[in-house]
Amino acid sequence: MPTTTRRHTLTLAGLEVPVIELAGAADGPRLTVIAGVHGCEYASMDGVRKWARQLEDRELRGRVVAVPVLNLPSFRARSPFIVPDDGKNLNRCFPGDPAGTLADRLAHAAFTELISGSDALIDVHAGDMVEALEPFALYDAGPAEDRARELATAYGLGYVIRQAPGPGRAVGGSTSAAAAEAGIPAITAEAGGCGLVERAAVEAHVRGLNGVLAALGMADPPPAASPAPPPAFLERFLWLRCADEGWWEPVVSPGETVAEGQLLGTVSSLDGARTLQTITAPAAGVPMFITSSPAVAADGLLLGLGAS
Ligand SMILES: [Zn+2]
Repeated sequence: MPTTTRRHTLTLAGLEVPVIELAGAADGPRLTVIAGVHGCEYASMDGVRKWARQLEDRELRGRVVAVPVLNLPSFRARSPFIVPDDGKNLNRCFPGDPAGTLADRLAHAAFTELISGSDALIDVHAGDMVEALEPFALYDAGPAEDRARELATAYGLGYVIRQAPGPGRAVGGSTSAAAAEAGIPAITAEAGGCGLVERAAVEAHVRGLNGVLAALGMADPPPAASPAPPPAFLERFLWLRCADEGWWEPVVSPGETVAEGQLLGTVSSLDGARTLQTITAPAAGVPMFITSSPAVAADGLLLGLGAS
């Protein structure tokens, strides 16, 4: 039985956001897939674009609503992390505020129109323009976390991080955290980075989304698909920042195992004469992302360490 495809735009906070809706002939869950919450994470956007095209020719149970580029102002301006209109990180604004600035309003509209009422949410990311990254999936503790962990595992990346609420939590106000609070199984899936459209990362996202479809019982895996090896499960996500502005020089790479106390990099003066800060690992773990640009501001984000 054929899958019906409808391409249209949804007006969210005054923006005409492209949407691909795929409806199977058979009943099943409603899966929402969003990319481009950050406007320069191209591998994730391309993964969703290519996956949606392939899905048109497959049998589907249920309905997929896919948004390849949500944050149009950031995409158009090639603005990493933030919405240029208000300087806010859209992925810290969920579930949003209809009376706020553009990022708040876009988050609110996306949460209301796309995420609410979904049976599962996959928010597809990559490292942003100046972010090198080891592929991983992230989910939040909450009422739907068992299902979220299944989806994170089914995505097939090397690492799965669970975020518990509390002061140690690295990321709040994200799509998947807000969905988790609303009881919707949700993950953030990360592969690719540095503003590149790396083929391996795009394919990782296509495979991951197919893995999620199979886990939800919405489609059989493609014939060529082999099961992914089980990921390493991590319980902590430690984000390291610098005290002062300067020149950041990491000495480790994403995905490299590091020991507690190991040197991760330095921040030095722009003239190269003085080391301002030595960054060491607060725990044994694996850098999930590393800021690839030497230019860092005071309190700038340097690195995210996944730890058990
Ligand atoms: Zn992102």
